[in-house]
Amino acid sequence: MLELRPSCEHCDKKLPANCSDARICSYECTFCLACADGILAGVCPNCGGGFVPRPIRPQKEWKQGLSTAKQPPSDTRVYKPVDVTAHKSFAAAIRIMPAEER
Ligand SMILES: [Zn+2]
Ligand SMILES: [Zn+2]
Repeated sequence: MLELRPSCEHCDKKLPANCSDARICSYECTFCLACADGILAGVCPNCGGGFVPRPIRPQKEWKQGLSTAKQPPSDTRVYKPVDVTAHKSFAAAIRIMPAEER
């Protein structure tokens, strides 16, 4: 089950569980769309993997026990702004590879 972290790790933008611009890597490092596509160039600064849109957990309990009311999103903020220069060199060789080949 995803943690659904509350904010962008780089710019600290709020990313509520029902927002459509949260992006995650396979480890659930969480960024806003602007950071994922912009400064990060589609490369997770923590693992080198790519990003996908974070799925939205339903607010309404359509199936018993499954909703944000039953499994609330994390309120633990992860705020680790990337070193932009360091990320540029880290991502240089990775960003040109499709995530499937990294
Ligand atoms: Zn951001
Ligand atoms: Zn990652």
